[in-house]
Amino acid sequence: MSEPSDNKFPDAVEGYYGSFGGAYIPEILEENIRNLKENWSSICLSSDFVKEYESLLNQYVGRPTPMYHAKGLSELYKTHIFLKREDLCHTGAHKINNATGQILLAEKLNKKRIVAETGAGQHGIATASVCAMRGLECVIYMGAEDMIRQSLNVKRMSMMGAKVISVNSGSKSLKDATNEALRDWINHPNDTHYVIGSVVGPAPYPEMVAHFQSVIGHEILRQLSQPPDHMIACVGGGSNAIGSFYPFLNNPEVRLIGAEAAGKGLKDPQTPATLSKGQVGVFHGSRSYILQNQHGQIQSTHSLSAGLDYPGVGPIHAYLKEEGLVNYLSIQNHEALAAARILCNKEGILPALESAHALAVLEKESFSPTETIVICLSGRGDKDMMAYQKHGF
Ligand SMILES: *Cc1c(COP(=O)(O)O)cnc(C)c1O
Repeated sequence: MSEPSDNKFPDAVEGYYGSFGGAYIPEILEENIRNLKENWSSICLSSDFVKEYESLLNQYVGRPTPMYHAKGLSELYKTHIFLKREDLCHTGAHKINNATGQILLAEKLNKKRIVAETGAGQHGIATASVCAMRGLECVIYMGAEDMIRQSLNVKRMSMMGAKVISVNSGSKSLKDATNEALRDWINHPNDTHYVIGSVVGPAPYPEMVAHFQSVIGHEILRQLSQPPDHMIACVGGGSNAIGSFYPFLNNPEVRLIGAEAAGKGLKDPQTPATLSKGQVGVFHGSRSYILQNQHGQIQSTHSLSAGLDYPGVGPIHAYLKEEGLVNYLSIQNHEALAAARILCNKEGILPALESAHALAVLEKESFSPTETIVICLSGRGDKDMMAYQKHGF
């Protein structure tokens, strides 16, 4: 991961990207965090680890994922559009790139028990699946509201032998599940590894997760004969986006676009558009943009897509926004739904609602006929069928 110092990539220096990041943790986790910080990169860059990780990515996850030239979409928008098919990963989204890496790391650190949070359920499924394959105990925390929205994914996790714990506090969604997973880790610091599902949390998690997801961007660069003109990805915590952007952060020729969810619009008090409407604060262990209400409490948010329904964002993205290195757009529910319909009609691909936010950027920006655009299709839409049906599909 080490890069030359004139490199614009915001490699975390002591866990900070500019003024964002850090590790704001209770004392009881200091030992765990220090252990991770001191050891993760040497373990993950060792040739044995790399060999085992790459072999699992290849044989279990199904990598490299295809780079699909979307001719129907390209004709419609009069430009060249490619889709990076993370929806074809085992378990249906990019989350498993990170879950596989972190669980291998946990084994090397002699941790026998895995905990994780999940929103849409994709990170939970990925973690539960890899734990089943490696014979590790797995506990998944999920908001009670999300368990209703994503009931199929709850069953899938149980079939993989994971214990799914319903979280009834707060808005009963991702932020509350994250609180509970952190609490579990605090109570079991010795035998447990907490697999965080995005580039959030205390250092070194954001950097570690970005490292595991950077496989997406490295494959994109290899699969195209030259870098694209535009790279587009949706941003929840920001892991599929940073993974896609990774090799292009130093290349001013590549325009990077992040699509965050605006829910019902930026004026809605429950909008989850953290980068557009947030303020700087500390949340879930790091300093970044967060959404707060007028009393300074973390705002409960609403987006149709559970995976983007989060009042925080990874500190890397806060930094990239502040430096003007990435253009962040906010996409409303109805815009994502329309984009999902277009992808179904033109390409025969059902996108995850999260990924549909990235596709909706095609309606917002204009592109020239000679340009090449890559969109990270972060996941498949089977899990969202209830929402699609409810909205007239
Ligand atoms: C979880 C999820 C996201 C959002 O997470 P990031 O860390 O921002 O990538 C996006 N798309 C899908 C399909 C997901 O499951």
